[in-house]
Amino acid sequence: MVYDVIIVGTGPAGIFTCLTLLEKRPSLRVLLLEKGRSIKERKCPVASGETACVACPECNILSGWGGAGAYSDGKLTLSRHTGGHLARYISDSRLDSLISRVDDTYLRFGAPLDRLYGTPSTELRALQELAARNRLTLVSSPVRHIGTDICFEVLTRMYEHLRSRATVRFGSSVDRILAADRRAAGIECEDGTRITADVVVLAPGREGARWLDLEASRLGLTRLTNAVDVGVRVELHAAVLEHLTRVTYEPKLLYRSERFDDQVRTFCVNPHGQVVKEYLKELWTVNGHSFAKSKTENTNFALLVSTTFTEPFDEPIQYGRHIAQLANFLGKGVIVQRLGDLHKGRRSTPDRMGRGAVRPTLRDATPGDLSFVLPFRHMANITEMLEALDRIAPGVNAPDTLLYGVEVKFYSRLLKLSQCLETEVANLFAVGDGAGVSRGLVQASATGIVAAEEILSRLP
Ligand SMILES: Cc1cc2nc3c(=O)[nH]c(=O)nc-3n(C[C@H](O)[C@H](O)[C@H](O)COP(=O)(O)OP(=O)(O)OC[C@H]3O[C@@H](n4cnc5c(N)ncnc54)[C@H](O)[C@@H]3O)c2cc1C
Repeated sequence: MVYDVIIVGTGPAGIFTCLTLLEKRPSLRVLLLEKGRSIKERKCPVASGETACVACPECNILSGWGGAGAYSDGKLTLSRHTGGHLARYISDSRLDSLISRVDDTYLRFGAPLDRLYGTPSTELRALQELAARNRLTLVSSPVRHIGTDICFEVLTRMYEHLRSRATVRFGSSVDRILAADRRAAGIECEDGTRITADVVVLAPGREGARWLDLEASRLGLTRLTNAVDVGVRVELHAAVLEHLTRVTYEPKLLYRSERFDDQVRTFCVNPHGQVVKEYLKELWTVNGHSFAKSKTENTNFALLVSTTFTEPFDEPIQYGRHIAQLANFLGKGVIVQRLGDLHKGRRSTPDRMGRGAVRPTLRDATPGDLSFVLPFRHMANITEMLEALDRIAPGVNAPDTLLYGVEVKFYSRLLKLSQCLETEVANLFAVGDGAGVSRGLVQASATGIVAAEEILSRLP
């Protein structure tokens, strides 16, 4: 079989590449290769509450149709200021227009029209002023909340739409990128199958970032160091943040620490949500999501400290992995600690946890002591930010607040890309989180459109 375009990875970036290509040119022969499963077969025993994680060979939370988007909270952040760096490649006006096209497409496939938060209002302005008076910045960005359950349905509809128009192969892990004379020539799968195509689009997400980095190195592509975000997931009673989440759904708050002058930020706020474990190749980290139809009594969010290392160190992903490994080593998995215990310099125990007012939504975290895991710099930044947050949302810095560790956001090494997201190998494009360009659903989807439009413009 001969294909015009091969897309590696069926997360939002790969899906939007395919949607755009076929919308404009239905006759194109497009092959989508995905190492995970089809969306209907993606079943995570942890998410469905059946068992603890059984460490599937390909994590169903991160891999399969929809990529990391399938079990995501489905928050579409409709702002060019968050969720990625696409603004470095295209103009602000084009990015704004792509963001609204992406939103329209999610709506067309069933995203809810009415769940839009954080649009400019007097209430939002008042919250921004309150934040500013307490050394915090509340970034204004409209968010459409799809919810994990409906997000799954939206992505299923996208699959139903594309399956008869393109060839989709699941369980196909791409091993090598083929190039000849610095032009893309196709791919080779792990089982040795070689497939040729004139154009290859790499959309492997964070899940495939290590693979992409190794392949980029083998092909001699220039790679630039990216940041690594390390921190904790905070869980508290939903009422504590209700005045913020009601208006913005996902309050994006920034804080510059006094002690280290580092930026700390809230990330992925899940009102009435659930804390979940995430398995990243022999590593347990923590994350969170919330459903549109079922609610818990808690809200969770990450507090992350972003670090960009300078020469000679250029292994930020390994740095993040080592910290997560330390938590896994000490806690035999994810560690949870009551903030009151952290302040008193003692570990949390099942007994102390049981007496706390906040009931953990992640059941199989080990009560322990995060001060043995996080570097002092990170811990000091996080505790400072909790104090600042407490001034605008009293109760954040309370003894019963739970901290889960660790949450790590590895951003793929940035590949050197042109303005249309082409690598230094002609007709080899890299899009989405895997290329280090995006960090969220909207910008990941938008990168797919950018690459697809360039490919279309090159076709006869
Ligand atoms: C729990 C969770 C919650 C999230 N919540 C939100 C949210 O509410 N809002 C938001 O904006 N973002 C959220 N995100 C982030 C968002 O999901 C990602 O930014 C987005 O999915 C990135 O899209 P992508 O297509 O670049 O990569 P991915 O979605 O990661 O997809 C990449 C796909 O490529 C496949 N792949 C990788 N390597 C290979 C290979 N070698 N061969 C074949 N296939 C391969 C993977 O299996 C995967 O299916 C969340 C992420 C997680 C994990």
